[in-house]
Amino acid sequence: ESNLNPKYTFENFIVGSSNQFAHAAAIAVAENPGKAYNPLFIYGGVGLGKTHLMQAIGNFVKEHFPSKTVVYVTTESFMNDLIDSLRNDRMTQFREKYRTVDILLIDDIQFISGKDRTQIEFFHTFNALYDSGKQVVLTSDRPPKDIPMLTERLRSRFEWGLIADIQPPDFETRIAILRRKAEDEGIEVSDEVLKLIASRIKSNIRQLEGTLLKLKAKAQLEGKPLDAELVRTTLSIEPGNSTSVSESFSETLPVDEIKKAVSQIMNVKIEDLDGNSRKKQIALARQIAMYLCKKLGNYSYPKIAAAFNRSDHTTAMHAYNRIKELREKDAQIQSLLYEIEGVLTRSVD
Ligand code: ADP
Ligand code: MG
Repeated sequence: ESNLNPKYTFENFIVGSSNQFAHAAAIAVAENPGKAYNPLFIYGGVGLGKTHLMQAIGNFVKEHFPSKTVVYVTTESFMNDLIDSLRNDRMTQFREKYRTVDILLIDDIQFISGKDRTQIEFFHTFNALYDSGKQVVLTSDRPPKDIPMLTERLRSRFEWGLIADIQPPDFETRIAILRRKAEDEGIEVSDEVLKLIASRIKSNIRQLEGTLLKLKAKAQLEGKPLDAELVRTTLSIEPGNSTSVSESFSETLPVDEIKKAVSQIMNVKIEDLDGNSRKKQIALARQIAMYLCKKLGNYSYPKIAAAFNRSDHTTAMHAYNRIKELREKDAQIQSLLYEIEGVLTRSVD
């Protein structure tokens, strides 16, 4: 009922220069909950180990201080829990649940952006915990100062304790992570293979691990060994040039995924995104979908235009620029985009 995944531990968290500060802070908090740094705020890009580190704190506390209660929630489920509780007149239980724990772990707090009611409730949760010396740990894809539409009083509380960032892992750390993963999965690979993968996948540990598993599956399916040649052909690495960058194995989001997410969240039919309707909501959804194709998928403008049945690539370019501009000044668009991007980045898992 703490919602922790037992596979996220300190033991299997590989430490390198990119994450050693956040790791040390997490250890300090796990050993001295409520006393070391409160709150601990960990931030960094997608797939760099924030959730792993946060849950490692929880698992450590459960093991070493069995009497302490730990609750792990995503910001989204905290929000849904709040909405349900408000609707069903269960706020007493809600407050009881979150204000009496010893360690509260809230993942992806950036999604609280623009959610006014949730911010108010979380403010009180935070105060209640903090005042009674209970530990709060937060993760985010960005530092508190860069979370838009966040009340000043929450922002300042996020900054009260320790802010620790996680950077993309360097080459050695990537290799160490791959080696560990290969051992855990019983995959036999040479150092050359690990180096090739680590030279190709740089900025996301989930993707790094995923690539190893994909290569293993490919080797099995094709009845070939998982050797350097298989890695080279799969990742399109030219022999003798292990760091060559090729787009043929990019992990970009499929356009259809983007369309699906936009259509669901904005309540617009997928067909309408490809059609010609100029109704306000439909036209906006279409432009948002094109914008996300560029931003998250990094597709070329001609490709985006074609994917939306347009012959002129400037349509896609115009859409991108318009939404980018709107995002800077329109709070509603900003929070809408966060929601859609949240769904899309989670579905990459
Ligand atoms: P984030 O929450 O930052 O998006 P996760 O914590 O979900 O990232 O990490 C993505 C994957 O990478 C998980 O499977 C996690 O176990 C693994 N991972 C991340 N960092 C490390 C690390 N330093 N050592 C071992 N595995 C890691
Ligand atoms: Mg995470």
